[in-house]
Amino acid sequence: MRLLITGGAGYIGSHMVKLLGEGGHKVLTIDNLSNGHPQAVLYGELEIVDLLNYKALEEVLLDFKPEAVIHFAAKVVVPESVQKPLLYYENNFQGTINLLQAMKRSGVKYLIFSSTAAVYGIPKSVPVKEEDPKEPINPYGWSKLFSEQAIKDFSYAEGLKYAVLRYFNVAGADPEGKIGQITKNPTHLILRACKVAMGKLPYIEVFGTDYNTPDGTCIRDYIHVVDLCQAHLRALEYLLEGGESHVFNVGYGRGYSVLEVIERVKKVSGVDFEVRYGPRREGDPPIIVADNTKVKSSLGWAPRYDDLDFIIKTALSWERSYNL
Ligand code: UDP
Repeated sequence: MRLLITGGAGYIGSHMVKLLGEGGHKVLTIDNLSNGHPQAVLYGELEIVDLLNYKALEEVLLDFKPEAVIHFAAKVVVPESVQKPLLYYENNFQGTINLLQAMKRSGVKYLIFSSTAAVYGIPKSVPVKEEDPKEPINPYGWSKLFSEQAIKDFSYAEGLKYAVLRYFNVAGADPEGKIGQITKNPTHLILRACKVAMGKLPYIEVFGTDYNTPDGTCIRDYIHVVDLCQAHLRALEYLLEGGESHVFNVGYGRGYSVLEVIERVKKVSGVDFEVRYGPRREGDPPIIVADNTKVKSSLGWAPRYDDLDFIIKTALSWERSYNL
């Protein structure tokens, strides 16, 4: 298939490009390289295009004529979204609007969209189901929820078929070690802890120890990036087979606390690094774990890497292999 990947030079997008390239698909990545890296794009061409540059975007779509689009390009750092909300609404929401417009102009009928568990805000109950209340607690979550709504309305009006995938905590790297997350200043727990274990950061801080959870630290559902990409592939196949548009949670349905993750990183790396205990980070829900019944039953998604040690092992191997 001819597939356009927005944000294909970023962390998750580049793993998707690899998976699709290995499957023999013809992929074109568009990325503004604000957070992406050209060397991460292992298959197909890369065009440096910003979704906010509508003319350039439309030109690429008219020229490449993709059969489907997988839309990853977005700003994704929650605390930054609180500081710079308009940056998030512009990039994530306006960017999606432009993409839909260009898809309409070029006749693309299928879209897979990267959404997030942040649309649920602080869940009333866990595991969280797709139909549970959507009450984001930061601009990042809102920018994704608004985008979901725009996609849904556009689909109704124009006949677009879509799958919205709400990601839980994505981590790990390509098991072959060819790509991984490239960032000097990660905010995410597993990557930060791996950098500490490698001596690239001095210590890990635990943000809050007084949550209403068994050990007082937040619980998250960590999912390996390749399993997440497999869910995209399954969603695409499902739509092409005539499946209806739907929203899917993508997580393993099991949570680990911050302290459990840190202990596992110590064990897998063999390094007993320094841990500091600090105050809560603004906007962190105590527990988020996916109810993944729908993605498993409707898409037949069968995760291969549901193993926290494996996730950490691949993240550590990747950290060892590059110098940032
Ligand atoms: N966290 C932490 N120390 C860090 C990074 C994260 O204690 O250096 C905590 C964070 O407060 C949250 C959990 O780890 O409770 C997962 O955070 P992350 O940023 O990885 O993902 P999020 O759930 O915010 O998307």
